[in-house]
Amino acid sequence: MSRVVVVIGSGPGAAPAAVQLAERGYRVVLLERGQFFNPADSKINSFEYELHTPTWVDKAAEWAGEKPIQRAYGVGGSTLYYQGISQLPSENIIEKWGLRFQEFSESSKLVTDFIGVAGINGTSHGLNRNSVFLKRAASELGWDCGVAQVSMLADLSRNRPNCNYCGQCVFGCSRGDKGSVDNTWIPRLMKSANATVITGAKAKKLLLSSDESAVRSVVYEIAGEMKTIDCDAVVVGAGAIETPNLLNLSKNSTSGKGVGNKNIGRYLTDSLQINRVIFLADGAGAHAGLPIDVMVKEFEHEGILLCQGRNLGGITGPVSFAKFAALHSGPVDFRDWMREKYSKVSVIAAFVESDPSRNATLNFEDKTYKVEVSSLVEERLRKAQAKLYLWAQSANAETLSYTRADAATASGAMFRGTCRMGVEPTSSVVLPDGRLHGMSNLVICDASVIPPGLIAHPSLTLQVLGWLNGGKLADRLAA
Ligand SMILES: Cc1cc2nc3c(=O)[nH]c(=O)nc-3n(C[C@H](O)[C@H](O)[C@H](O)COP(=O)(O)OP(=O)(O)OC[C@H]3O[C@@H](n4cnc5c(N)ncnc54)[C@H](O)[C@@H]3O)c2cc1C
Repeated sequence: MSRVVVVIGSGPGAAPAAVQLAERGYRVVLLERGQFFNPADSKINSFEYELHTPTWVDKAAEWAGEKPIQRAYGVGGSTLYYQGISQLPSENIIEKWGLRFQEFSESSKLVTDFIGVAGINGTSHGLNRNSVFLKRAASELGWDCGVAQVSMLADLSRNRPNCNYCGQCVFGCSRGDKGSVDNTWIPRLMKSANATVITGAKAKKLLLSSDESAVRSVVYEIAGEMKTIDCDAVVVGAGAIETPNLLNLSKNSTSGKGVGNKNIGRYLTDSLQINRVIFLADGAGAHAGLPIDVMVKEFEHEGILLCQGRNLGGITGPVSFAKFAALHSGPVDFRDWMREKYSKVSVIAAFVESDPSRNATLNFEDKTYKVEVSSLVEERLRKAQAKLYLWAQSANAETLSYTRADAATASGAMFRGTCRMGVEPTSSVVLPDGRLHGMSNLVICDASVIPPGLIAHPSLTLQVLGWLNGGKLADRLAA
């Protein structure tokens, strides 16, 4: 009889691992607390969307039913909401994490080829006119500004329709053309006769062997009933908030402690974001094209990532634009404002990583979190602010508004690090291959394992790690 691996969660960390294991012949039972996403549910027409101008933060919080942590419960995890921009870390960061660059690169090629990522591996996407200006302005400053890597793009060979650039990605793609996990890894998983996906199934606890060196079963709740499933291994991919919570809840009878070491839940990291809404006198066409077109990775070593984001300020079409005018300019003649500024407004954004100190923690009881804005991070925020200013100046743009550079700018959507990987158990929770220190058959595949260095947008890195570490688990089970 084939060995059973229980996979908890179906986000970008867990799903590729599940595919690896199922395709290698293991019996995979994937437990997902949410449901399958029906694109028809997200059919918000563009007028309604603009009229309400809900930002993704509000919408995501409403869907998650909690504030201020943003994440989706559903098959595909938080990629149901993401816009799909996702840079990969550079070689020195990958090696600092204890991973082998060549191995990581080989997996990233397989993953990006499968999900279809534009802006990487030679493929590209057309830039809207404002992005062309911004790219040129960055080049004039001597910055290397590239086409952003995005996985939302259409690719007919992968049977997804062409993106219509509606910019509503964060509501769940109503056309199914976004390269989110529900459109990529999950259909591939479902093709395997070895896989079963159980929705509405919330993992509650892991039960250990008597010597506490391995997980033997997973207890989960479905439709108000508790069930137990025995397994040979478990992949935990419940996300950077739920995974440490689940480990803590898995108290064993002898020590009364949760599974794993005392670093669980520490080193929480988030991405702080500053937006600058600008008016490009020479631009036009900001309302058309991808939400995030161009990206400057140049300052990665300083912990700063710059990108363009048409949609980040919520300025999508004429209605939301008029609302923006009213909010930011006081009483104005809308018609003049529209004539002068509409479609010339763009957004440039900077991301900075918060400090993953021991003080940055999650509180499991009330589900609040504390990110650390140390003096180093404050310095980065100041630099990022200045770089955005320079970028706007070089593009000959007027600044219409900007967000303050402080802790309040935490995205609340890109949490990571709460079970971070490392070689030393004194400062980490899992090994670089995702195995929990001291436990033979528990692998974590989600954002909780990501150490500092990524700045923002972890979804592509997570898919590469999930693919890689799912494969390594399959190798170990076969040995
Ligand atoms: C609005 C928004 C926009 C974003 N935009 C981008 C972007 O453009 N680019 C980018 O790279 N990243 C983006 N992100 C972040 C990215 O989506 C996350 O970093 C990524 O999805 C995290 O992956 P994960 O596998 O760790 O967890 P998740 O994607 O959160 O998946 C975890 C899954 O586990 C399930 N689960 C949780 N607990 C249990 C349990 N006890 N039992 C069973 N199932 C459970 C959840 O329902 C969920 O499906 C965005 C996030 C949000 C919210």
